[in-house]
Amino acid sequence: MLTNTPIWHNGQSLPLSPLGGDVETDVCVIGLGGSGLTALDELTTMGRRAVGIDAAGIAPGAAGRNGGLLLGGTVDFHHDAVTALSRDRAAGIYRQTMAEIRHIDEQAPGVVRHTGSIRLSSGPDEDADVERQREAMLADGISCELYEGPLGHGIFMPDDACFNPQQRCRALARRVIAQGAKLYTQTTATSYSATEVRTDCGTIRCAQVIIAVDGRLETLVPELAGTVRTARLQMLATAPVAERVFPTPISTRYGFDYWQQTPDGSVAFGGGRDHSVESEWTTDAEPTDRIQGYLERTLRETLKVTAPITHRWAASVSYTETGLPVLQELRPGLWVIGGVPATSWARSAGAPPPVRRAARPPRSRDFL
Ligand SMILES: Cc1cc2nc3c(=O)[nH]c(=O)nc-3n(C[C@H](O)[C@H](O)[C@H](O)COP(=O)(O)OP(=O)(O)OC[C@H]3O[C@@H](n4cnc5c(N)ncnc54)[C@H](O)[C@@H]3O)c2cc1C
Repeated sequence: MLTNTPIWHNGQSLPLSPLGGDVETDVCVIGLGGSGLTALDELTTMGRRAVGIDAAGIAPGAAGRNGGLLLGGTVDFHHDAVTALSRDRAAGIYRQTMAEIRHIDEQAPGVVRHTGSIRLSSGPDEDADVERQREAMLADGISCELYEGPLGHGIFMPDDACFNPQQRCRALARRVIAQGAKLYTQTTATSYSATEVRTDCGTIRCAQVIIAVDGRLETLVPELAGTVRTARLQMLATAPVAERVFPTPISTRYGFDYWQQTPDGSVAFGGGRDHSVESEWTTDAEPTDRIQGYLERTLRETLKVTAPITHRWAASVSYTETGLPVLQELRPGLWVIGGVPATSWARSAGAPPPVRRAARPPRSRDFL
């Protein structure tokens, strides 16, 4: 059993080193998760000189430790997003996230699996909600089909996808390096301004800084303490299961539980945060007995998976009240991207919508 190690690592890493002294560049990106690497891709594509640093490695945080579900839309199901944002805006974001899934596919060829996804209903209450989602999606011309099958009933979204998130981030890192970005790992930003990032290994002088950090963002950017709040999400994974039981990634219980079966047959299952909401509002990123116990019971009793558990892990994400991510120029030239679970991967390279203050319902897609 590997403790606090995601199934996605498979022993591979890129040979990167810490910063070895002071450097000068156009833009410094703090954080080499999906958001930071995507920013570096955009910058180097535009011909800018860019340096990226990470306190640990390539996607050591949530970006390399998540469920690998690539779902369209915002954190809210489409009908809820329509209510919260207006039909035009919700549908616009949905289309943008679909385009971003295609973009991720182009950036990291062979990594994305175009499986579609299923939202399963967990009972009569969720049946009605699933139907509202289906109607809202169809009304906006978004593909959505009824699902009735061995897993239960719900809806099938044919345009969704899944991937190994570590593999995607490594591919993106290789791509940005080839485009001229300089990446440094084990390099922690200890202070920053719009024109300078001080680290434990040297200083980066630049014209602009982008802080691309999701989990624990409020500790790095204290002025966002009222805007984002860090939560812990947890997962486990099993040894390969011989049959393909789950042909697509699946979410249920309003998105609080989610899983995918990897190409080799392992089941990566996450969620259960609603079983201990208060304890999971934390910057600690270690798995806990309580949530892991829930995941294990549900894996055995509901998913009927009997394969041995090989991995358990957790990571930090930050949520906004609005369900939309933060993209903010804190001071001229100093940008911050965070609260990413709001719209997931699919927002990271596009033009994210501005932050909107509104009450976010406690339920809804927990991993997005
Ligand atoms: C268990 C779990 C399951 C999830 N499942 C899904 C899913 O299925 N689908 C989905 O779309 N989303 C999912 N998410 C959410 C998604 O993983 C995150 O929203 C996203 O990965 C955040 O990526 P990021 O690059 O913005 O941030 P992060 O991954 O948090 O990256 C930030 C990086 O900054 C670095 N850093 C922090 N401070 C410093 C510093 N001072 N100096 C230098 N570097 C620093 C960190 O080491 C880290 O690598 C899940 C999250 C978790 C935890």
